[in-house]
Amino acid sequence: MPLDEYHRKRIAAGTPEPMPKEPAARDGLTHEGQFVVHGHDARRMHFDLRLEMNGALLSFACPKGATLDPEVKHLAVRTEEHPLEYVDFEDTIPAGNYGAGPMIVWDRGAVRWLEMPAEQQIERGKLDFVLYGRKLRGRFSLIPLKDPPHYLLLKKKDAFAVPSAPPLDPRSIFCGLHVAELPELRERWQTLRARAAGSAAVAPRERKAALLPRALGLPKGSDEAALAWDIVPQGAFRALCTRRGNTVQIESDAGELVTDYYPDLAAAIAHGVAQDFAVELLLWRPREPELLEQPAPCQALAVDLLALADLDFRGVALEARRALLDEMFPGPGIVRSMPPFRAPLERLLEGVAADPTLLHGLLGRSTASPTAVFVAPPGAAPLLAPVHGEAPPASLRAPASVRRAPAPPKRTVSLTNRTKPFFPGLSKGDLLDYYANVAEHLLPHLRGRPVILERFPDGVDGKHFYQWRPPPGSPSWLHSVEIPEHRKNHVREPGKQPKRAFVLDDLESLLYVANLGCIPLHLLGFRAAAPASCTFATVDFDVKQANLDMARPLVRALRTLLERVSLPAYLKTSGRTGLHVLIPLGDGIPFPAAQALCELLGRWLAASYPKRATREERIDKRGERVYVDTGQTGPIRAIAAPYSVRPVHDARVSMPLPWDQLETLDPADFTVRTVPRLLAVHGDAWASFQGQSPDLARAIEHLQQEVVPLSARGS
Ligand code: MN
Repeated sequence: MPLDEYHRKRIAAGTPEPMPKEPAARDGLTHEGQFVVHGHDARRMHFDLRLEMNGALLSFACPKGATLDPEVKHLAVRTEEHPLEYVDFEDTIPAGNYGAGPMIVWDRGAVRWLEMPAEQQIERGKLDFVLYGRKLRGRFSLIPLKDPPHYLLLKKKDAFAVPSAPPLDPRSIFCGLHVAELPELRERWQTLRARAAGSAAVAPRERKAALLPRALGLPKGSDEAALAWDIVPQGAFRALCTRRGNTVQIESDAGELVTDYYPDLAAAIAHGVAQDFAVELLLWRPREPELLEQPAPCQALAVDLLALADLDFRGVALEARRALLDEMFPGPGIVRSMPPFRAPLERLLEGVAADPTLLHGLLGRSTASPTAVFVAPPGAAPLLAPVHGEAPPASLRAPASVRRAPAPPKRTVSLTNRTKPFFPGLSKGDLLDYYANVAEHLLPHLRGRPVILERFPDGVDGKHFYQWRPPPGSPSWLHSVEIPEHRKNHVREPGKQPKRAFVLDDLESLLYVANLGCIPLHLLGFRAAAPASCTFATVDFDVKQANLDMARPLVRALRTLLERVSLPAYLKTSGRTGLHVLIPLGDGIPFPAAQALCELLGRWLAASYPKRATREERIDKRGERVYVDTGQTGPIRAIAAPYSVRPVHDARVSMPLPWDQLETLDPADFTVRTVPRLLAVHGDAWASFQGQSPDLARAIEHLQQEVVPLSARGS
């Protein structure tokens, strides 16, 4: 068993180290997981590198630690495997025990094994992996030496390598102390309490601590010079962090409890100097899209002290509050304390505007005012839709009235692997943000209608597959419906589950499936409540053999014809190269009637424009004509939903457009990058689509008069 040796070396009663049972036997393969580097001052000072493999931590003692210098090789000696719980271990192992001495968490984060899982790498000998920690980043290798437990640890050359790198900061990223200072942790807390009690204007802690209310922009007449500023990184939000003993709680300023999303942050705070407090944090995950498939490890800045032990600090001078924060969070840890900026606002804003991918704005506060002021450079990022899970509401950007809207029942979607590349130059996070940003206009076209999911878990160039059933672990609120079987005389195999499609009625469901790696959304033509009724007909203009200029007059002619017979028509790009015209039918139209309509329209187009349009199914017989595909309407036929992203390199979107853009539109203009802004400015060109309910029977009667003679002549 992997932990036999670990348990054999330790006596549970003598050491604070975790003593879990053996992890459940797994034959899984480990592609990614957690890592920790401990600084351990035992008989002699050394570092322990521990990498998650098969439910435990593969461990190496490194006398000289690790470096980002690619020219330096350090010895690493494989030691016994440690339990996974050890990633959060920071304490002093008492004298007389194995490994006696203080042990700090020197670095912690995610590991991804390269090329093959950890178990196979161990068999091969050489270990290749990527670390995404607070200190160690990028690719590393452990090369086995002839003498079995001995390896060489080296940093591979990549964007994170630093030739001739100076030594990395030796302190703990949990408590911020040097390893030799760790045994004084409790004394420091006593000293800190005593100092806090001596602060001027401190009050007994009676009311519940709460964040200062936030003003957007400088209120008129406020004294800019009195404010001290903190720089707000991109994606950061304000959070109220409380610790009482070993219990840590982190609440976003939108009122969402987010502790579980940041387990390493919570562990760091639980191991810090101060044991009882309420502080305001700015909390974020730095964006480094080029690096890892893991979510970035979080960082936090302690910006205000609200309470310490049984004292309320809200009436205390800002300088004194910040000075105490420096002692609570002394080092360059996961939580840091940095002095606020006191400089002209204009100059600070220039600095923020100069680095817009990393910095978002400024948060100011003063001793005099019970308000925190948020200011961003002109033209800074627009309001982002709230995203649940990994990135709680970016509430710094939201007006207070929006933030405090009555909360819907809590549905949490954990958004994972946001930095994973999904399209050239775009990450999975960009796809998630896209769907969150267009949800307001997209959801009305999806509500109540089944969608077939096609997943691209590794992005547009990876494998893809259809998801016919809710994947294991799906939340109970993810709604799906059986797809009716339309093959004649179909008898389902015994025990075989029917295929299902998904109904995405709300933002959470949409983000849940986007997080599964669903790039396109394939929309079926019926409502879940009425599977026999077709709610829209589709005419698809496929220009693969032709070009868009061949298609434009055909689309224009179709629209004119439909107007003549009083049928509404809506235009969108297919999201690849062609165009779609959709005819909303309202409720109660059987599929055969909708198919008859499409057939008539296709025949009319081909007969009227024989040099431009063809219905020829054999590609080699189409020539350079536009293929008018009227077969996309049917009980199990699906088309790209409006605003659906397509799995193509430039991340194009199937874009609904007003008719006046038909002559000039270029499908390449509508992508994940451009559509949210266009929608914000112009709104949904299809806003009236769902309300239509034309008289189809009468329209078909009219069409037959026009079309039948014409196609009879043509054939
Ligand atoms: Mn050790």
